Amino acid sequence: RIVYVNGDYLPEEEAKVSVFDRGFLMADGVYEVTSVLGGKLIDFDGHAARLARSLAELDMAQPISHEDLLAAHRELVARNGIEEGLVYLQITRGNPGDRDFVFPDPETTPGTVVMFTQSKPGLAASPAAKTGIKVISIPDQRWARRDIKTVQLLYPSMGKMAALAAGADDAWFVEDGKVTEGTSNNAYIVKDGKIITRERSSDILHGITRAAVLRYAAEAQMEIEERRFTLEEAQAADEAFVTSATAFVMPVVEIDGVKVGAGTPGPVAGRLREIYLEESLKSAI
Ligand code: PMP
Repeated sequence: RIVYVNGDYLPEEEAKVSVFDRGFLMADGVYEVTSVLGGKLIDFDGHAARLARSLAELDMAQPISHEDLLAAHRELVARNGIEEGLVYLQITRGNPGDRDFVFPDPETTPGTVVMFTQSKPGLAASPAAKTGIKVISIPDQRWARRDIKTVQLLYPSMGKMAALAAGADDAWFVEDGKVTEGTSNNAYIVKDGKIITRERSSDILHGITRAAVLRYAAEAQMEIEERRFTLEEAQAADEAFVTSATAFVMPVVEIDGVKVGAGTPGPVAGRLREIYLEESLKSAI
Protein backbone atom coordinates (compact mmCIF):
# COMPACT_ATOMS: atom_id res chain seq x y z
CA ARG A 1 0.00 0.00 0.00
CA ILE A 2 1.18 3.51 -0.80
CA VAL A 3 0.55 6.02 1.99
CA TYR A 4 0.96 9.79 2.28
CA VAL A 5 3.15 11.49 4.89
CA ASN A 6 3.73 15.26 4.76
CA GLY A 7 3.67 15.54 0.99
CA ASP A 8 5.42 12.26 0.20
CA TYR A 9 3.90 9.09 -1.25
CA LEU A 10 5.70 6.09 0.23
CA PRO A 11 5.33 2.34 0.60
CA GLU A 12 3.75 1.88 4.05
CA GLU A 13 6.90 0.19 5.48
CA GLU A 14 8.91 3.32 4.70
CA ALA A 15 6.45 5.85 6.14
CA LYS A 16 7.60 7.18 9.51
CA VAL A 17 6.39 9.62 12.18
CA SER A 18 8.51 10.86 15.12
CA VAL A 19 8.14 9.40 18.63
CA PHE A 20 7.78 13.06 19.73
CA ASP A 21 4.78 13.65 17.49
CA ARG A 22 2.00 15.13 19.63
CA GLY A 23 -0.51 12.85 17.99
CA PHE A 24 1.36 9.87 19.40
CA LEU A 25 2.18 11.35 22.83
CA MET A 26 -1.01 13.32 23.55
CA ALA A 27 -3.69 12.30 21.06
CA ASP A 28 -3.28 15.91 19.89
CA GLY A 29 -4.73 15.45 16.45
CA VAL A 30 -7.85 15.27 14.35
CA TYR A 31 -8.98 12.95 11.60
CA GLU A 32 -11.51 12.35 8.84
CA VAL A 33 -12.70 9.25 7.03
CA THR A 34 -14.05 9.65 3.52
CA SER A 35 -15.62 6.67 1.82
CA VAL A 36 -14.86 5.65 -1.74
CA LEU A 37 -17.49 4.13 -4.03
CA GLY A 38 -16.88 3.40 -7.69
CA GLY A 39 -13.39 4.88 -7.23
CA LYS A 40 -14.89 8.25 -6.24
CA LEU A 41 -14.94 10.23 -3.00
CA ILE A 42 -18.27 10.50 -1.19
CA ASP A 43 -19.03 13.88 0.44
CA PHE A 44 -15.40 15.07 0.27
CA ASP A 45 -16.33 18.75 0.71
CA GLY A 46 -18.28 17.98 3.88
CA HIS A 47 -15.35 16.12 5.39
CA ALA A 48 -12.90 18.87 4.39
CA ALA A 49 -15.16 21.51 5.96
CA ARG A 50 -15.46 19.57 9.23
CA LEU A 51 -11.68 19.06 9.25
CA ALA A 52 -11.17 22.83 9.01
CA ARG A 53 -13.60 23.33 11.91
CA SER A 54 -11.91 20.67 14.09
CA LEU A 55 -8.51 22.30 13.47
CA ALA A 56 -9.86 25.79 14.26
CA GLU A 57 -11.51 24.61 17.50
CA LEU A 58 -8.12 23.26 18.65
CA ASP A 59 -6.10 26.31 17.49
CA MET A 60 -4.25 24.14 15.01
CA ALA A 61 -3.00 25.58 11.75
CA GLN A 62 -4.33 24.06 8.54
CA PRO A 63 -1.11 22.59 7.08
CA ILE A 64 -2.60 21.58 3.72
CA SER A 65 -4.86 23.44 1.31
CA HIS A 66 -8.28 22.14 0.25
CA GLU A 67 -6.99 21.56 -3.31
CA ASP A 68 -3.91 19.64 -2.14
CA LEU A 69 -6.04 17.58 0.23
CA LEU A 70 -8.39 16.59 -2.58
CA ALA A 71 -5.49 15.89 -4.95
CA ALA A 72 -3.81 13.65 -2.33
CA HIS A 73 -7.05 11.75 -1.70
CA ARG A 74 -7.44 11.12 -5.42
CA GLU A 75 -3.79 10.19 -5.86
CA LEU A 76 -4.02 7.58 -3.07
CA VAL A 77 -7.25 6.13 -4.46
CA ALA A 78 -5.62 5.84 -7.90
CA ARG A 79 -2.24 4.50 -6.73
CA ASN A 80 -3.87 1.86 -4.53
CA GLY A 81 -6.58 0.97 -7.03
CA ILE A 82 -9.41 1.57 -4.56
CA GLU A 83 -12.86 0.90 -6.00
CA GLU A 84 -14.71 0.59 -2.68
CA GLY A 85 -13.19 1.54 0.63
CA LEU A 86 -12.04 4.63 2.41
CA VAL A 87 -9.38 7.29 2.75
CA TYR A 88 -8.23 7.99 6.31
CA LEU A 89 -6.70 11.40 6.98
CA GLN A 90 -5.02 12.49 10.20
CA ILE A 91 -3.47 15.82 11.12
CA THR A 92 -1.58 16.19 14.39
CA ARG A 93 0.07 19.20 15.99
CA GLY A 94 3.37 17.83 14.79
CA ASN A 95 6.75 17.09 16.30
CA PRO A 96 8.15 19.81 18.57
CA GLY A 97 11.20 17.61 19.27
CA ASP A 98 10.30 17.04 22.91
CA ARG A 99 7.33 16.35 25.20
CA ASP A 100 5.70 19.51 26.51
CA PHE A 101 2.12 20.48 27.47
CA VAL A 102 2.60 23.88 25.85
CA PHE A 103 1.50 24.00 22.20
CA PRO A 104 4.49 24.48 19.89
CA ASP A 105 4.67 27.48 17.56
CA PRO A 106 3.08 26.35 14.26
CA GLU A 107 5.68 28.45 12.38
CA THR A 108 8.50 26.19 13.55
CA THR A 109 6.45 23.02 14.16
CA PRO A 110 4.19 22.30 11.21
CA GLY A 111 1.40 19.76 11.66
CA THR A 112 1.94 16.16 10.62
CA VAL A 113 -0.34 15.08 7.77
CA VAL A 114 -0.89 11.39 7.17
CA MET A 115 -3.29 9.73 4.73
CA PHE A 116 -3.85 6.11 3.81
CA THR A 117 -6.47 4.01 2.08
CA GLN A 118 -8.34 0.90 3.18
CA SER A 119 -9.83 -1.28 0.47
CA LYS A 120 -13.28 -2.64 1.39
CA PRO A 121 -14.81 -4.52 -1.51
CA GLY A 122 -18.55 -4.93 -1.04
CA LEU A 123 -18.86 -1.90 1.24
CA ALA A 124 -22.10 -0.68 -0.35
CA ALA A 125 -23.60 -4.18 -0.61
CA SER A 126 -22.80 -4.90 3.05
CA PRO A 127 -24.62 -8.04 4.31
CA ALA A 128 -25.03 -6.35 7.72
CA ALA A 129 -27.42 -3.87 6.10
CA LYS A 130 -29.74 -6.79 5.32
CA THR A 131 -29.69 -8.34 8.78
CA GLY A 132 -29.21 -5.19 10.88
CA ILE A 133 -26.88 -4.86 13.85
CA LYS A 134 -27.27 -5.33 17.61
CA VAL A 135 -26.16 -2.65 20.05
CA ILE A 136 -25.63 -2.49 23.79
CA SER A 137 -25.73 0.71 25.85
CA ILE A 138 -22.87 2.04 27.93
CA PRO A 139 -22.38 5.30 29.83
CA ASP A 140 -20.90 8.12 27.75
CA GLN A 141 -17.58 8.69 29.48
CA ARG A 142 -15.87 10.58 26.67
CA TRP A 143 -14.70 14.17 27.03
CA ALA A 144 -17.27 16.91 26.50
CA ARG A 145 -16.11 18.18 23.06
CA ARG A 146 -17.36 15.32 20.91
CA ASP A 147 -18.09 17.79 18.11
CA ILE A 148 -14.34 17.92 17.46
CA LYS A 149 -13.17 14.85 15.58
CA THR A 150 -10.06 14.11 17.64
CA VAL A 151 -8.02 10.91 17.55
CA GLN A 152 -8.83 10.19 21.22
CA LEU A 153 -10.68 6.99 20.44
CA LEU A 154 -9.79 4.84 23.43
CA TYR A 155 -13.20 4.98 25.10
CA PRO A 156 -15.16 4.33 21.87
CA SER A 157 -12.76 1.45 21.22
CA MET A 158 -13.48 0.07 24.72
CA GLY A 159 -17.19 0.43 23.95
CA LYS A 160 -16.78 -1.62 20.79
CA MET A 161 -14.94 -4.33 22.77
CA ALA A 162 -17.69 -4.37 25.42
CA ALA A 163 -20.26 -4.80 22.63
CA LEU A 164 -18.37 -7.72 21.07
CA ALA A 165 -17.93 -9.35 24.50
CA ALA A 166 -21.72 -9.10 24.98
CA GLY A 167 -22.39 -10.74 21.62
CA ALA A 168 -23.46 -7.45 20.02
CA ASP A 169 -21.97 -5.42 17.17
CA ASP A 170 -21.68 -1.93 18.60
CA ALA A 171 -22.46 0.31 21.56
CA TRP A 172 -24.66 3.37 22.01
CA PHE A 173 -23.53 5.94 24.56
CA VAL A 174 -26.03 7.18 27.14
CA GLU A 175 -25.70 10.41 29.11
CA ASP A 176 -28.24 11.88 31.56
CA GLY A 177 -30.65 9.13 30.52
CA LYS A 178 -30.49 10.06 26.84
CA VAL A 179 -28.69 8.42 23.92
CA THR A 180 -25.89 10.60 22.57
CA GLU A 181 -24.56 8.52 19.64
CA GLY A 182 -22.83 5.26 18.72
CA THR A 183 -19.11 4.54 19.15
CA SER A 184 -18.49 5.72 15.58
CA ASN A 185 -21.88 6.72 14.23
CA ASN A 186 -24.93 8.89 14.85
CA ALA A 187 -28.05 7.26 16.32
CA TYR A 188 -31.67 7.49 15.18
CA ILE A 189 -35.06 5.99 15.94
CA VAL A 190 -38.25 5.96 13.89
CA LYS A 191 -41.67 6.24 15.54
CA ASP A 192 -44.93 6.50 13.60
CA GLY A 193 -42.98 7.36 10.46
CA LYS A 194 -41.05 10.17 12.14
CA ILE A 195 -37.25 10.13 12.13
CA ILE A 196 -35.90 11.17 15.53
CA THR A 197 -32.22 12.01 16.14
CA ARG A 198 -30.39 14.02 18.76
CA GLU A 199 -29.88 17.69 17.91
CA ARG A 200 -26.36 18.92 17.13
CA SER A 201 -24.33 20.25 20.06
CA SER A 202 -20.90 19.61 21.56
CA ASP A 203 -22.37 16.32 22.92
CA ILE A 204 -22.08 14.56 19.55
CA LEU A 205 -20.05 14.53 16.38
CA HIS A 206 -21.81 16.42 13.62
CA GLY A 207 -21.88 13.54 11.18
CA ILE A 208 -21.38 14.35 7.53
CA THR A 209 -23.60 11.38 6.69
CA ARG A 210 -26.15 12.65 9.25
CA ALA A 211 -26.37 16.00 7.46
CA ALA A 212 -26.78 14.35 4.05
CA VAL A 213 -29.34 11.79 5.23
CA LEU A 214 -31.47 14.45 6.96
CA ARG A 215 -31.32 16.59 3.82
CA TYR A 216 -32.43 13.69 1.60
CA ALA A 217 -35.15 12.71 4.10
CA ALA A 218 -36.51 16.26 4.10
CA GLU A 219 -36.46 16.33 0.29
CA ALA A 220 -38.44 13.06 0.30
CA GLN A 221 -41.04 14.75 2.57
CA MET A 222 -40.17 12.49 5.50
CA GLU A 223 -40.86 13.89 8.94
CA ILE A 224 -37.80 14.70 11.09
CA GLU A 225 -37.54 15.64 14.75
CA GLU A 226 -34.14 16.66 16.14
CA ARG A 227 -34.32 15.95 19.86
CA ARG A 228 -32.92 13.66 22.53
CA PHE A 229 -34.41 10.23 23.16
CA THR A 230 -34.08 7.67 25.94
CA LEU A 231 -32.97 4.08 25.63
CA GLU A 232 -36.48 2.93 26.61
CA GLU A 233 -37.98 5.06 23.84
CA ALA A 234 -35.50 3.53 21.39
CA GLN A 235 -36.37 -0.01 22.51
CA ALA A 236 -40.08 0.77 22.00
CA ALA A 237 -39.54 2.46 18.61
CA ASP A 238 -40.65 1.04 15.26
CA GLU A 239 -37.10 1.18 13.89
CA ALA A 240 -33.61 2.25 14.84
CA PHE A 241 -30.53 2.90 12.73
CA VAL A 242 -27.12 4.55 12.67
CA THR A 243 -25.26 6.57 10.06
CA SER A 244 -21.58 7.07 9.31
CA ALA A 245 -19.33 7.60 6.31
CA THR A 246 -18.48 3.90 6.06
CA ALA A 247 -21.72 2.30 7.38
CA PHE A 248 -23.93 4.72 5.36
CA VAL A 249 -27.37 3.94 6.86
CA MET A 250 -27.24 0.78 9.00
CA PRO A 251 -30.37 -0.67 10.64
CA VAL A 252 -30.24 -1.48 14.39
CA VAL A 253 -32.48 -4.42 15.25
CA GLU A 254 -31.71 -5.00 18.93
CA ILE A 255 -30.84 -2.71 21.85
CA ASP A 256 -29.62 -4.29 25.11
CA GLY A 257 -31.22 -7.59 24.11
CA VAL A 258 -34.61 -6.02 23.31
CA LYS A 259 -35.81 -6.33 19.72
CA VAL A 260 -36.65 -3.05 17.99
CA GLY A 261 -39.95 -3.34 16.10
CA ALA A 262 -40.08 -6.74 14.44
CA GLY A 263 -36.37 -7.28 15.10
CA THR A 264 -35.60 -6.93 11.40
CA PRO A 265 -34.43 -3.91 9.33
CA GLY A 266 -37.28 -1.46 8.89
CA PRO A 267 -38.60 0.24 5.73
CA VAL A 268 -37.52 3.79 6.66
CA ALA A 269 -33.89 2.77 7.27
CA GLY A 270 -33.97 0.69 4.08
CA ARG A 271 -35.31 3.56 2.01
CA LEU A 272 -32.85 6.06 3.49
CA ARG A 273 -29.94 3.73 2.75
CA GLU A 274 -31.08 3.42 -0.84
CA ILE A 275 -31.57 7.16 -1.28
CA TYR A 276 -28.27 7.97 0.41
CA LEU A 277 -26.24 5.56 -1.74
CA GLU A 278 -27.91 6.75 -4.92
CA GLU A 279 -27.69 10.49 -4.23
CA SER A 280 -24.21 10.53 -2.71
CA LEU A 281 -22.84 8.56 -5.66
CA LYS A 282 -24.31 11.15 -8.03
CA SER A 283 -22.36 13.91 -6.32
CA ALA A 284 -19.19 11.84 -5.69
CA ILE A 285 -15.98 13.39 -7.02
N1 PMP B 1 -20.24 9.96 15.73
C1 PMP B 1 -19.01 9.51 16.02
C2 PMP B 1 -18.59 9.45 17.44
C3 PMP B 1 -18.14 9.08 14.99
O1 PMP B 1 -16.91 8.64 15.29
C4 PMP B 1 -18.60 9.12 13.65
C5 PMP B 1 -17.74 8.63 12.51
N2 PMP B 1 -16.52 9.25 12.45
C6 PMP B 1 -19.89 9.61 13.40
C7 PMP B 1 -20.69 10.02 14.46
C8 PMP B 1 -20.43 9.69 11.99
O2 PMP B 1 -19.84 10.75 11.29
P1 PMP B 1 -19.71 10.71 9.70
O3 PMP B 1 -21.10 10.52 9.18
O4 PMP B 1 -19.15 12.03 9.36
O5 PMP B 1 -18.82 9.57 9.38
